[in-house]
Amino acid sequence: MAAAAAAQTAGVPAAASATEPPFLSVVAPVYFEQEVIGHFLAAVTAVLARTGWSYEIVLVDDGSTDRTVALIREAIAADSHIRLVEFSYNHGKAAAMTAGLTYASGTRVLCMDPDLQDPPECIPEFVAKLDEGYDVVLSVREAKAGGPIDRLLSAIFWTSLRSLTRLDLPPGLGTMRIFNRHFVEQFLRYPEANRFLEGLLVHVGMRRTQIVVPHRARFAGQTKFNLRRRFALASSAITDFSEIPLRLATRVGLAVTAVGLFAMLAIVFVKLFIHDFQLGWPSLFCLLITGFGVNLLFLGIIGTYVGKIYREVKGRPLFSIRGLHNLEPRP
Ligand code: UDP
Ligand code: MG
Repeated sequence: MAAAAAAQTAGVPAAASATEPPFLSVVAPVYFEQEVIGHFLAAVTAVLARTGWSYEIVLVDDGSTDRTVALIREAIAADSHIRLVEFSYNHGKAAAMTAGLTYASGTRVLCMDPDLQDPPECIPEFVAKLDEGYDVVLSVREAKAGGPIDRLLSAIFWTSLRSLTRLDLPPGLGTMRIFNRHFVEQFLRYPEANRFLEGLLVHVGMRRTQIVVPHRARFAGQTKFNLRRRFALASSAITDFSEIPLRLATRVGLAVTAVGLFAMLAIVFVKLFIHDFQLGWPSLFCLLITGFGVNLLFLGIIGTYVGKIYREVKGRPLFSIRGLHNLEPRP
């Protein structure tokens, strides 16, 4: 109701003409989602049909090889609101979201996952909040669905991310969010290949607020982010937005050198004044191994950043598209 009123105040006609941008674009990345995609489209359509807004649903298939694309194409044949960007192979969720934002033409763009973990019934609430005068409305999950290990890992990730990057990210940040056109345009100016989306959103800044949404278990299908992938994403997010690991080399190097100098002086002192002894090879061996270890660790950290620079300077496109369905190519 509130959202419908917001549509009125925004002066958007219920049925926009073909040339006019839709009132709302809903963007969703899909990757092996054949079990849920039909339910997602039905749920979103039911909510949006009630509002009377002009809308489009832009799905980005991130290289699924199951029936996901076939199901979406069937849905497009029956409903012209649905659009599909089909990637030629898996590029990752961040690239899929970026493609969705590139092809969405609405004056407001709402992003959500299609697994119904975040409720489509909240869409009008997001729109109403955005129209209060914000550029972006993020979601915070009431209670994260998932086991205790999942929640613990999530907490460790967000805490270390906040302290290492100083990004002002709300705890329990969800994946459902809405932007106005201005925010989307600003976001699309970020060309980097290493894309930690949440970090970029905070970097774009502008007037931002958040609303609390309930979080449910996945409607069907399986999570695509196993433990290994989560760790990779977490460390990548940290190195995308923080130079602290690089600077750590200087600090640890200084500390190790100080300890080494102190040990040297202590040994000389003990040998001269307290007890004459012969240092054996085990102690030398331990020192060497520790030194090599610290060296290699920081070489690895520097290597990670060099790898990222390499990826950036190649300047490759973020995604490669196999086909567009019910969509015009963008320049
Ligand atoms: N996803 C994607 N590309 C990938 C992995 C995931 O587009 O390489 C999509 C997936 O289809 C889903 C969303 O990203 O819509 C979030 O994935 P998932 O629900 O598996 O993650 P979780 O909610 O368990 O963190
Ligand atoms: Mg999910």
